[in-house]
Amino acid sequence: KPSERLEFRDPERVQAFRQALDRLCRDLPKPISIMHVCGTHEQSIARFGLRSLLPPNLRVIMGPGCPVCVTDMPEVDEAVYLAEQGVILATFGDMFRVPGTRKSLAEAKAEGADVRVIYSPWEALQIARETDREVVFFATGFETTAVATAAVILSGPPKNFSVLSAHKYIPPVMEIVAEMPQTRVQGFLAAGHAATITGWKIFERFVARHGIPVVVAGFEPLDILSALVQLVELIRRGEKRVVNAYPRCVTPEGNRNAQRLLWEVFETESGVWRGIAYVPNGNLRLRRKYAWVDARARFEIRLSEWLGDAPPRLTQECLCGNIMAGIATPYDCRLFGKECTPETPVGACMVSSEGACRIWYEYGGHV
Ligand code: SF4
Repeated sequence: KPSERLEFRDPERVQAFRQALDRLCRDLPKPISIMHVCGTHEQSIARFGLRSLLPPNLRVIMGPGCPVCVTDMPEVDEAVYLAEQGVILATFGDMFRVPGTRKSLAEAKAEGADVRVIYSPWEALQIARETDREVVFFATGFETTAVATAAVILSGPPKNFSVLSAHKYIPPVMEIVAEMPQTRVQGFLAAGHAATITGWKIFERFVARHGIPVVVAGFEPLDILSALVQLVELIRRGEKRVVNAYPRCVTPEGNRNAQRLLWEVFETESGVWRGIAYVPNGNLRLRRKYAWVDARARFEIRLSEWLGDAPPRLTQECLCGNIMAGIATPYDCRLFGKECTPETPVGACMVSSEGACRIWYEYGGHV
């Protein structure tokens, strides 16, 4: 409700949290870096200028929190390949312009492929119900969106409907980023919407393994500032545990119904996250018993034959990988706002509304 939103943006309480952060950071022996792994967090932080409220020795950096940005190029290539074979390829708007090795889905559409932008997997299902042609839903996003894909698959789709899953699973990539020597973060803000599904207890193993505290945070300015205060308190006290700063939505165990749907349909598989690394168990793939609705099983996707020796079109100057690893900001990229803009994106971080470059282009980064 609008009144509730205003409550979580109350300027006096914002100031109180700001002062608390100032106090907590005043005598720190060395600066603190905190990472979040969520495009929605970055949108809120940038949109409300929250970095400008932070003490200079407290850095909040964005990690691999944009599902579109981490969709690997061969996954985009698979979608483009299928679109060019004559299927109706349905996907979210953010994926439309992400560059593949040879071309994006937008370019494939311009050349005659039937690519449709949808807002929910149910729309893809509806398209399939209204045609005899094959409809492939190119499914991207983290576990939050994967639950919706699972629900569609379990709803009994028609035979001409299939899913090309590029869904990703966040907990394993936190392990990778925590181990990157160059990243060096002292705490993690976990995404409240993903934790609504998984529950906050899932992070306890991570904390035990890496000795880095985690605070689950919501998305309003006061949610984020309050979570930062609690995280800095944990870091100062040397307490390695999980705190749930979003209790109005997140429970210890999460949404069991959603988890049941998710793991009924998907299993984890290791794979590359674009620009980040090979992430063990970081991809969500359809279980074998759902092969009948899995585009990879239904169609022969001859990528290497189709690609030939086409080199990827991405410029070496694109720093998306370093940005998602938390070791560079969009302002470090020479192309930011010049050759690379939302109208002329060079990398995926400028395409997606959850990409750091796109967000900083729209709102500024305040570093
Ligand atoms: Fe890549 Fe463009 Fe971001 Fe530079 S500004 S890192 S080229 S997406």
